[in-house]
Amino acid sequence: MYDVIVVGGGAAGLVAAGTAASLGKKTLLIEKMPRTARKILVTGKGRCNVTNNCDVDTVLKNVVSNPKFLYSALVNFSPEDTMCLFEGLGVPLKTERGNRVFPQSDRAMDIADALRRYCDMYGVKVLTDTVKELLICDGEIKGVKTEAGKEHLGASVIVATGGLSYSKTGSTGDGYRLAKTAGHSIVPTRASLVGLKIAGGECKEMQGLSLKNTKLSLFVKTNNKCVFSEMGEMLFTHFGISGPIALSASAHLKENPQNYYIELDLKPALSLEMLDMRLSRDFSENLNRDFLNSLSKLLPKAMIHIVVGRSKIPAHQKVNQITKEQRLALCRVLKAMRFDVCGREDIETAIITAGGVETRELNPKTMESKLVKGLYFAGEVIDVDAVTGGFNLQIAFSTGYTAALNA
Ligand SMILES: Cc1cc2nc3c(=O)[nH]c(=O)nc-3n(C[C@H](O)[C@H](O)[C@H](O)COP(=O)(O)OP(=O)(O)OC[C@H]3O[C@@H](n4cnc5c(N)ncnc54)[C@H](O)[C@@H]3O)c2cc1C
Repeated sequence: MYDVIVVGGGAAGLVAAGTAASLGKKTLLIEKMPRTARKILVTGKGRCNVTNNCDVDTVLKNVVSNPKFLYSALVNFSPEDTMCLFEGLGVPLKTERGNRVFPQSDRAMDIADALRRYCDMYGVKVLTDTVKELLICDGEIKGVKTEAGKEHLGASVIVATGGLSYSKTGSTGDGYRLAKTAGHSIVPTRASLVGLKIAGGECKEMQGLSLKNTKLSLFVKTNNKCVFSEMGEMLFTHFGISGPIALSASAHLKENPQNYYIELDLKPALSLEMLDMRLSRDFSENLNRDFLNSLSKLLPKAMIHIVVGRSKIPAHQKVNQITKEQRLALCRVLKAMRFDVCGREDIETAIITAGGVETRELNPKTMESKLVKGLYFAGEVIDVDAVTGGFNLQIAFSTGYTAALNA
């Protein structure tokens, strides 16, 4: 008989188990993969952006789904607490651009090992098995049943099974099925922080080209409302676009992706008038050249023929014959290059799964189910998600800690 059983040994589950055990609770952690913390190893391109060095309000501003639900959990366990936990476990940290926090070693492995140490230190029992069933009797949790056919009894159970992406790390959506059997509603899951598929063949032609200092804005087609706008880096891929600002934009696709389009401002530092002056200057240096050959200072090579095509200025028109109207049309292409979104890349490649256990059915102060006494949820399995910057791991730690504190 355990006090606390944690299902899933990822970021949320390891913090939950370590915390429960540190409070003197007899704790069992059940993880289906041979080792815990598999997903942490792939985070931050192997460097693990473990949190964001900011206050709770800033974290909440970066949460896309259900920020209010997370308020208490973040107050209970803030980014500062995360940093103290890891420094205390012997992992020195550093803060980089955008307040992103990484281990000084740049090794995600150090974060994973520290969480395993946290559990070992307090005597968490770790079992390799897959939880198949929640044991519930008269609206109260009694324990779990595993694939191996064993029943493990516990006063509280914390489900921290993660989402649906990178399934090789163990997150295959089991938590959604378990939650459903307990009567919980699941907000339909969708890939978030994922590449966007773009209609037409232009992106494929520019595949591999990465842009810096580009402004990407996302619009709803029906009313041309801008729902996201950010400056930064992006990349053209075989299917469309990826890279930091494209991934962040994907978090704001709430409905059918085909209802959205993006606009790229390739020269965000220049107003239309300033850009026109810049073009006039460039053109005056290339008066006898073909238009196609006059843009090498302005644009990366892979993009020139696409921009030329969109400008409707004949590629071989001499620069000295380009009219003011044509030049202005070119400016408009450079300031608002439109691409129609036609889908998201596969959820398997997503950084986060949006959707999940309906937050209205959980107590935001404790993470306990309002339907089954003693049943708690933590981490990505809940319908919460944030943009990149260390916020998603922070959510996992805060909800894991809060569930453990109350379990
Ligand atoms: C490529 C990539 C990079 C990322 N980089 C960052 C980053 O730098 N910073 C950041 O903040 N976030 C990042 N994230 C997001 C972050 O990894 C997740 O938000 C976080 O891992 C969620 O933690 P979790 O504990 O809820 O789920 P997970 O970490 O997925 O853990 C769930 C665990 O439950 C186990 N499990 C599942 N079902 C069962 C079952 N039935 N029985 C037993 N065990 C089970 C799984 O094997 C797994 O170990 C990244 C994600 C990806 C995919």
